[in-house]
Parts: sequence; structure tokens; C-alpha cells
Amino acid sequence: TKDDVKGFFLRNAFVLFTIAAVIIGIILGFALRPYKMSYREVKFFSFPGELLMRMLQMLVLPLLVSSLITGMAALDSRASGKMGMRAVVYYTTTTVIAVFIGIVMVLIIHPGKGSKDEFAKAPQIEQISPADAFLDLIRNMFPPNLVEACTKQVTLTTSCLFPCPAITLYVLFLNYLTTAYHHQYLSAHLALFKSLSTEISREEMIPVPGSVNGVNALGLVVFSICFGLIIGSMREQGQPLKDFFDCLNEAIMRLVAIIMWYAPIGILFLIAGKIVEMDDITSMGGQLGMYTVTVICGLLIHAIIVLPTLYFLVTRKNPFVFIAGLLQALITALGTSSSSATLPITFKCLEENNKVDKRVTRFVLPVGATINMDGTALYEALAAIFIAQVNDYELNFGQILTISITATAASIGAAGIPQAGLVTMVIVLTSVGLPTDDISLIIAVDWFLDRLRTTTNVLGDSIGAGIVEHLSRHELRKKDPEVGNSVVEE
Ligand code: ASP
Repeated sequence: TKDDVKGFFLRNAFVLFTIAAVIIGIILGFALRPYKMSYREVKFFSFPGELLMRMLQMLVLPLLVSSLITGMAALDSRASGKMGMRAVVYYTTTTVIAVFIGIVMVLIIHPGKGSKDEFAKAPQIEQISPADAFLDLIRNMFPPNLVEACTKQVTLTTSCLFPCPAITLYVLFLNYLTTAYHHQYLSAHLALFKSLSTEISREEMIPVPGSVNGVNALGLVVFSICFGLIIGSMREQGQPLKDFFDCLNEAIMRLVAIIMWYAPIGILFLIAGKIVEMDDITSMGGQLGMYTVTVICGLLIHAIIVLPTLYFLVTRKNPFVFIAGLLQALITALGTSSSSATLPITFKCLEENNKVDKRVTRFVLPVGATINMDGTALYEALAAIFIAQVNDYELNFGQILTISITATAASIGAAGIPQAGLVTMVIVLTSVGLPTDDISLIIAVDWFLDRLRTTTNVLGDSIGAGIVEHLSRHELRKKDPEVGNSVVEE
């Protein structure tokens, strides 16, 4: 009936908008390609998308800390220990399977056959202009990293006296106006802006391994787990802190709900901008094309066959119903190519659509987004062997084993930010003596494959949450389902 249709639309509005955004983004991107926009024009064009990235990244840090602390504090140490073990076993198993698939695919398909001359050179980056500096001003209104926004960005101005980011930004803005008013200081102010700017373009190309925008996420994860456990063990005394972080977490999730309305617009421009800017696909060498196909096949096998099967075997529930609930997060991963920027949406999907217990998501998701990257592991092993094939370098069994171990390590070390995997691949290549310069051979397609492996990463984390919840159902049943008010088990 009409009401059914309306109800369906309302319930799935976000997902429908997001799917529409992807489709419009692709069409718009291809429609604008013939106009051959310059690097700067593309940056202007994809600006709404960049803002989405920054808004999401801005939430990641407080979300990660507050969810881990409340997640840990809500459980007694025995229950969280068991849950942690299950998560670690799940992460290890799926990562090993992913690496295995990557290796088998690249050995069977052998995309690296042929000469190395077929590859094009990596593109050059343009200089930044005053307009870029102005966009930086707006960019800085959404600091992807609150902690860094409180320290690093303000040390250059008097505003270091103000620890609050809002005041800091206000002072920065005043700074900007006063300096801009005196034309003779224009160059000085530009220099200041250059040093203040977060340099999103370069940031995208040279991500810092093991970090969320420069902050050591792994360190934060460890700290938050310990801190949460301690608060949990303090019982009554720890209650104020528990309430505080609970409330912080809730507030952040409400912000996420608002940002979700903007997400489709952001995703549209992220995708369209990327398509406008990408290198000509038709000029791509045969090897690179085959390589792309090999990676896609590997990721598909892992995401559509392995992970759902694992979910079904453990829970006996339909994995595709579970995955349908995740669509919004998966599309966001595709659009942002960052599993940590997607984290807020992943939380929303798992808790609201799939009704996964908050004590599980709060614990498993932040850890998963930081260390569990199936797609990246698969990709790194596959790419390293591809580079060996291109160089006509015969790998023996020991070297392939080394690649699988280092690819696993590299995927753990990679941050959940765009193209982080490309950087940690240096570890994999050097471990078997392959030339690290050859990473440039695959740069042309990496932006695209990065999106696919990020989606696989997010799927892996989410299915992990489902599986860990199922395995931990006995521990979870014993307690009050309301996080923060849970009774500590003796
Ligand atoms: N972009 C990926 C992620 O955020 C990491 C990678 O480059 O493989 O999950």
C-alpha cells in the first residue's frame, strides 16, 4: 500500500539518498571529465566532499576514546578478557585468510607478466595559491584532530593561551583578518597559513602509518582500554567518570546523526571529484588493468564469500541481512576511503540497524578500525608479489611466507586513512628485497583499489562485531543491557 511504500522510504531514507549520491556522483564525474579541470578546480569542486571527511574525522578521536572507555567499564575484567580474546582470534583468522586469498589470486592470475616500460610516471602536484589558503581557513573550522587542533595548530599564534578549539579558531580568524588587511603583510600571512594549513592534498598522499592524522591511534586505544578497565573496577567511585564518558559518547553519536544528513552530499562530491581527476583509464597498461582485476576478485571473494560464510557458520543467521544493515557504512567507506572516518557511521549502522549490543560495538569497533584490516592485508601481499612479477623476480616459498607475515603486520600498522596501505607496503617490499620505488607503479589505480579495500576493512570489522556478540551472548546476558549502568559481575 501507499503507507508501506512511505514507511519503507522513511526507514531507508539515508541508504537510498546515499545510493543515489553514489550514482549521481559517478554520472557527474564522467560528465565533467571532458572539461579537463585543473588540479585546483578539482579541489574546489570536491570541497563539499572534503568537508564531510573532516567532519567525520573530527568525531573519530572523541568517539574512539569514549566508546572504548565506556565499553570496557561496562564489563568486568573477566568478560572483557574473553571478549578480547574472541576478537583477537577473529582478527587473526580473517587477516590470515585474506592474505592467503591475495597470494593465491596473484599467483594464479599472474598480472605482472610483461615489460616494466608499460607504466606511466606518477603525476606532479601543483603549488598552493592564496585561494587554497582561504579554503584552509574553512578546513580548519573542522579540525579532523581535536587534540592536534588544541596544540600543534595554535603554537604559532598567541592563541596557544586558549586551550579551547572554538576560541582558538576565533583567534585564528581574527589573525587572518588583521593580517590580510595590511597588504604588505600578505606574504607573511600566507606563510603563516601555509604552516597552519593541514594540507589535505599532501596529507592524502603521504599518510602517517599507525596514526589517525598524526595522533597515535594505537596508543589511544591501549590507553582507553586500560583506563576503561580501571574505571570499571572502581565500581561506585568510578561512576562519575563512567557517566561522563557515556554522556560524551551519546553526544558524539547525536552529532553523527546530524552529519549523516550531510553525508550523501559529501559522498557525491568525493566520488565525482575523484572521477574527474583520475588518470585516463584507457591509457592504462595491460598489466595494471590485470592487477586491478586481480585485486577486485580477491576482495570480492573475501567480502562476499569468506566473511559471510564465517558469519553464518558461527551465528546461523543470514549474513546478507546483516550486511544490508551496514550499507550506509559500506558506501561511506567507498566514498571516503578511510575506515576511521567511517567509524561513526559504522557504529550507527551496527547499533541501530543490526541491534548489536553496545558493549560489543564500543569495544570491538574502535579496535577493529585501528588494527583489523583484511582488505589492506590482502592488498599488500598481492601488490608486493605483483611488483616482484613485474621485475621478473622469482619468489621462493620462504619469501612468500615472509610477505604474508609482513603484510599482516603492515595491515595492523596501517592507519584507517586514505592510502595508508600504500605507505606501510614499504615494510613488505623491503622484507624480501624488492625495490620500494616500484610502489609508484601502482599509484595510478591505488585511489580506486583503496576504496574497495577500505570497504572490505569496514565489513570485516562489522562482521567481527556480530560474531563476537554471538560468542559472548552468555556473558552479555548476565548484565543490564544499558551500558554504563551495568552491574559488575563478581
Ligand atoms: N584506506 C584504508 C582504510 O582506511 C587503509 C589502506 O590504505 O589500506 O581502511
